[in-house]
Amino acid sequence: MKKHINSVLKSAGAVHIGFLNRSAAQFGQWLQSWLDKGYHGDMSWMKRNASLRNDPCSILDDGKSIISVAFPYFTSPPEQWRDRHLISNFAWGEDYHGVIKKRLKNAIQQITLTIPGFKGRAFTDSAPLPEKMIAAACGIGWIGKNSLLLSPEWGSYIFLAEIVCNLDLDSTPPLKDRCGRCDLCVKACPNGAILGGRMINATKCASYLTIEKRGEFSLEEKKSIHYHLFGCDSCQLVCPWNSKLEALADTPFACDPKWLDLTVEELVNLSPEQFANLTKQSPLKRIKLAGLQRNAHAIISNTQASG
Ligand code: SF4
Ligand code: SF4
Repeated sequence: MKKHINSVLKSAGAVHIGFLNRSAAQFGQWLQSWLDKGYHGDMSWMKRNASLRNDPCSILDDGKSIISVAFPYFTSPPEQWRDRHLISNFAWGEDYHGVIKKRLKNAIQQITLTIPGFKGRAFTDSAPLPEKMIAAACGIGWIGKNSLLLSPEWGSYIFLAEIVCNLDLDSTPPLKDRCGRCDLCVKACPNGAILGGRMINATKCASYLTIEKRGEFSLEEKKSIHYHLFGCDSCQLVCPWNSKLEALADTPFACDPKWLDLTVEELVNLSPEQFANLTKQSPLKRIKLAGLQRNAHAIISNTQASG
């Protein structure tokens, strides 16, 4: 049964597949102290659904296991950007939510054909499931000091997804932590946002500020985004587990050339129609025109301030 599921998911582009039985998919109140300290910032939705975060199989009426899946997305940075990526690597191409959901829905259809009675629901960053905890618990990788899930073969440039299903599957074993004494990501974070315990203070993190933060920036927040328009890869770029990755050649996640010629000065003057065209099928549509312009204004102001 697992062999068949593995083969279907590999054909769908998955590079790692792990299985977690519901009995092992119990995570307790692991977020509580982080929430209590306010490190989640404006992400108040993280305070809801505590029972689902504790027992993610409960999202399906007869959920008995989770199939955890990783899809790689690392592609070569466009030459124009060199090592200063305005946009985080995960968002250079097509929106992963749509691409991966489609792959997993097709995979579920195929699995259902050969395993009668199989029922599964696919998720990728689309429900309050503790994706990294699930992936770490079933051997996809380990949670690095920068709080990202790291795989020995694909580093942290992976999208995580899950199929919660009604099969009673045995769990695959976890991997050992391989960060060791390394603290390169902690030193590389320009905002000191990386806490101990594999947690991030989101309120200081440029990824959170440029993507999740709603409303205007405070002066401090504006400075903290540096040159980042959408996301920040600084703590991934220095990670030794990412240093030898081969860029994917044929992938919907490669950089769309439309981003290359744009300047932040042009972005602040985008019309709603231009924004809609520009962000069609792109993860950047999430921050809406106001968010994109806020971020672009902040970059201009930071650039002027640094001379
Ligand atoms: S994404 Fe950027 S700001 Fe956030 S923790 Fe990593 S290096 Fe720091
Ligand atoms: S940079 Fe070092 S400490 Fe940070 S996630 Fe990578 S291996 Fe772990």
